[in-house]
Amino acid sequence: MALLVQKFGGTSVGDPDRMRNVADYIARTVRRGNQVVIVISAMGKETDELLRLAREVSGTRPGREMDMLVTAGERKAMALLCMALADLGIEAESFTGSQAGFLTDTTHMDAKILDVRPDRIRASLDAGRVPVVGGAQGVSTAKDVTFLGRGGSDTTAVALAHALGADMCELYTDVSGVFTTDPRLVDNARKMEQISFDELLEMTANGCPKPAMRSVEYARNHGVDLHVRSAFTWEHGTLVTKEDPNMEQAIVSSVVSDTDEAKITIEGVADRPGIAAHLFRGLADAGANVDMIVQNTSLEGHTDISFTVPKADVPNVRVVCESLVEELGARGVHADTAVARVSVIGAGMKSHPGVAATVFETLADNDINIEMISTSAIRISCVVREPQTERAVQVLHAAFELDKGPKLVD
Ligand code: ADP
Ligand code: ASP
Ligand code: MG
Repeated sequence: MALLVQKFGGTSVGDPDRMRNVADYIARTVRRGNQVVIVISAMGKETDELLRLAREVSGTRPGREMDMLVTAGERKAMALLCMALADLGIEAESFTGSQAGFLTDTTHMDAKILDVRPDRIRASLDAGRVPVVGGAQGVSTAKDVTFLGRGGSDTTAVALAHALGADMCELYTDVSGVFTTDPRLVDNARKMEQISFDELLEMTANGCPKPAMRSVEYARNHGVDLHVRSAFTWEHGTLVTKEDPNMEQAIVSSVVSDTDEAKITIEGVADRPGIAAHLFRGLADAGANVDMIVQNTSLEGHTDISFTVPKADVPNVRVVCESLVEELGARGVHADTAVARVSVIGAGMKSHPGVAATVFETLADNDINIEMISTSAIRISCVVREPQTERAVQVLHAAFELDKGPKLVD
């Protein structure tokens, strides 16, 4: 008998039929002798709808009330799923994040989990029931309802699996696993059988929308094995585990893209100690999430500094940079939102030379100009023009023959 945490995403329970399908699947899992704990997202696009309503009703949108509103989506879904399970003769009971023991900090709309005390969930399991937990929610140290942020249900599932010592955390979604690239961009994207936490973390940090990055981080930090799989075909998906030193390493395992970032350039800043410190302290204090920083070699005591930030932060970042132009001795500030970042990821590139060269040659052969480059031990990222994103992903996926199966480090 295994103890499984099964998380179902919004699309998986998008309408009453889907809800009943999921209930049927859970019932079959239970009848095979497993213990299951369910984590559920709001149905379909309900979270987006609640956010839209809030924008229509209010200009201020106090955080406490936003969290109360948004978590209602999951609350509805969990009660409905329990009803569908009852129809199948399965005793299920729903729990809010607070009831399930999720203690968080007080950051509304993006709360962090401080502790999970799942006593009621254990009691429910011991009584032979199926606990159904509302995803992405908890209760703060100030006793208010909190929302863990977009994609937070994945984190709920991973944290619960860790706290309960579950055998597996299964994340059910609308694709059959983690693919070598976005299957919407490349027809022959291939489902991976297995991937390491580190590679998946790089993927999610660089544009892969699933699973939520914070949940992958939590899983890696606590060693919670994940199985990303389909709630439509129910076939075996992708296993996410710690990198095993004996595991065969793909030189390149995936290509991802991110069109949510903009490039900011501060032109002609003075080349002397303290300038970068001053600029990035100012940006940090304004809460800007800076990534990919590039500084050129200076010419006649002046240099350009470029970096990327989420597009949503551009207005704010522009104000901060413009207020610093004079102190930095700079000529001006440019914001370019028509860019995208394309990244090639693979644990095997650590010990295999030539990956960067192949990336650059492939982009050059396709007339795709590289505007910025950054790397980690297992990733190479290039900033390109946004309209070229799809093409860049396609040619890189083809160049590394990712449709054919992983090329391994010998
Ligand atoms: P949600 O299901 O919460 O709406 P998204 O639709 O944003 O989340 O993310 C799920 C989608 O992510 C999948 O339908 C798939 O098309 C896309 N996707 C992008 N890159 C990948 C990848 N490498 N592997 C699997 N799915 C991916
Ligand atoms: N429903 C929330 C969202 O769409 C939380 C989640 O499902 O992860 O972001
Ligand atoms: Mg989707």
